[in-house]
Amino acid sequence: MEPFIQNHQFNVIKHQATLLQKQVHGTIDRDVEEAVRAGTEWNVKDAFCELSEEQEELLSRVSDLRTEEDRVEFLKELHPYRLSFPDLTQRDVKELFPKTKRLKLPILKDVDFTATTYLGWKDIGASRHYMICLINGKLIGVEGRYVISTKKSMCEICGRYGDVAFMSVPKQRTSEENEKAFGKFVCYDSRECNQYIQKKDKLEQFIEQIID
Ligand SMILES: [Zn+2]
Repeated sequence: MEPFIQNHQFNVIKHQATLLQKQVHGTIDRDVEEAVRAGTEWNVKDAFCELSEEQEELLSRVSDLRTEEDRVEFLKELHPYRLSFPDLTQRDVKELFPKTKRLKLPILKDVDFTATTYLGWKDIGASRHYMICLINGKLIGVEGRYVISTKKSMCEICGRYGDVAFMSVPKQRTSEENEKAFGKFVCYDSRECNQYIQKKDKLEQFIEQIID
């Protein structure tokens, strides 16, 4: 079986498996437990547009998880089926930001591309936030400014409540009289954001607004 699980879909599985254990913990009612297990399986499959019989069979095992060890083992077994973000080189990164002077490069050797929906990193000295996203099979580099929020807030990409920064990005193609910048509250730590993101729609909308 070829890899077919994108990072955000893996996060759905991870989240659903954890939720399942919490929900069935201490449940004595068989019917309730069955319903919860069926719901978990449904939510996992719902994260995919289409699945082959083999893929469905693999994923349906999520509803059988009983112990913490089962869960850890199951997630490990999914590893060979996880799709990776393109394995970028520093040269690829530079090519995505042709107009940026003094581009700060990410430390690529530290990046787990399998656990990446978007690559995000910061130039702390210059208060700049960089992102590389894969939209419709095309890599897009986005550069913006950021201001750390003093209050915890909800990330507008992954939906998690935590430490965020406000990232503002100028629109790439604007007419002079209509010069606008878009901004969003985004997890301060992009690696954490990538561990929580379960849907790509907010990220894609954000990027499309910028490049439109
Ligand atoms: Zn986030």
